[in-house]
Amino acid sequence: NDLNPADGQLAYDLDRAHVFHSWSAQAALTPLVIAGGAGCDVWDFDGNTYLDFSSQLVNTNIGHQHPAVVAAIKAQADVLTTVAPAHANLVRGEAAKRILARAGSTFGKVFFTNGGADANENAMRMARLTTGRDKILSTYRSYHGNTGAAVVATGDWRRVPNEFARGHAHFFGPFEYRSEFWADSPEQESRRALQHLERVIQSEGASSIAGILIETIPGTAGVLVPPPGYLRGVRELADKYGIVLIFDEVMCGFGRTGGWFAFQSLADEDGPVVPDLITFAKGVNSGYVPAGGVIISESIAQAFEQQVFPGGLTYSGHPLAMASIVGALDAMEAEGIVDNARVIGSDHLAPGLAELAAKHPIIGEVRGIGVFWALDLVYDRESREPVSGVVIGQLKKELMDRGLLPFAADNRIHVVPPCIVTPEEVARALAIYDEAFTAVEATLA
Ligand code: PLP
Repeated sequence: NDLNPADGQLAYDLDRAHVFHSWSAQAALTPLVIAGGAGCDVWDFDGNTYLDFSSQLVNTNIGHQHPAVVAAIKAQADVLTTVAPAHANLVRGEAAKRILARAGSTFGKVFFTNGGADANENAMRMARLTTGRDKILSTYRSYHGNTGAAVVATGDWRRVPNEFARGHAHFFGPFEYRSEFWADSPEQESRRALQHLERVIQSEGASSIAGILIETIPGTAGVLVPPPGYLRGVRELADKYGIVLIFDEVMCGFGRTGGWFAFQSLADEDGPVVPDLITFAKGVNSGYVPAGGVIISESIAQAFEQQVFPGGLTYSGHPLAMASIVGALDAMEAEGIVDNARVIGSDHLAPGLAELAAKHPIIGEVRGIGVFWALDLVYDRESREPVSGVVIGQLKKELMDRGLLPFAADNRIHVVPPCIVTPEEVARALAIYDEAFTAVEATLA
């Protein structure tokens, strides 16, 4: 690669002069310039390479610049670069077929969107149209996207300045480390969280609730793997009250948990807990071209056989996005990439992060599965007081200085490499985390 530092400066200057960034006051921003990437690495124009343990926004499940996906996009570009959603198109059907084959036999159709937010938007609409009810219940610890209903379904702070849509109510999902339910075992947390959810359903009025929308494993909120029995209990409540169950698998889907879907990775002895609708984006094609969608159960798909679905998008099933889905899913299958994520999780990240926690008192809890982990950082293990943004800022700098691009949220570092990550890269990353924690702990002592 011919990298010219002057291009890095130009990229930075153009960005600061003309680009408006997400979720930020603009003046304080100092964005990292990324020139290129391959596999688990990204680099700048000055010759610095970073191990990408953020997967950008937890989306490059297949890594950067996978040649099969790049080739699939190029090949489709030579055939047809755009097509209206009303037409049938070969690559769209191929993509839908592959997604349904992975989701399981209770699902019938796929509605394609441009990303995760509009996937949730349309899933909520399907729930409302098929039940004739209005409200959507979702958890406080969640993110569902930045559009009208998706951002109001979001539980975290991003909802509050955007609360323009009505018909939403929130509840607390399980999170034993910072329990709302005074629970001291996963079973108790699960039972009490379900009891709370049922009380919310009754208090909101069961006959007004169209859908329950949850991230199967809440991601940005802290990789909150639900305790045993919780998802099954939610399914039972949804059935009891005639509510559509929607699993948001935008972040946790397509390999991240070491299975195709998180609900499959979390299967118990009775099998997986299957929702009515699944929303997806990110990992389905690693974000090489914007794409997302809703995987629709046979029965909800059936409801729209005669009833009109009043929704659509110009780029629903865009051919370049569809080609990238086919390319990504075929390569993930052929190269055993989902299995790799599972084995990396069980054999490398789980023991490696546990060892890191044993050494560093700043790590209050390690949670996760597959290549989807969070380190919950605290000043004190007894009080579990979360570290401040200043500490996280220091830690990010220490990690970047050592060549690791981290994912940070609130008081946490999320360890979320691509599903293709190797044991050697994990070992390298663990050594960098170790050094960075040592450096930051020294300033706290
Ligand atoms: N749902 C979840 C669980 C997410 O993590 C995200 C994005 O981070 C979204 C939905 C929104 O997806 P998008 O940014 O593609 O609209």
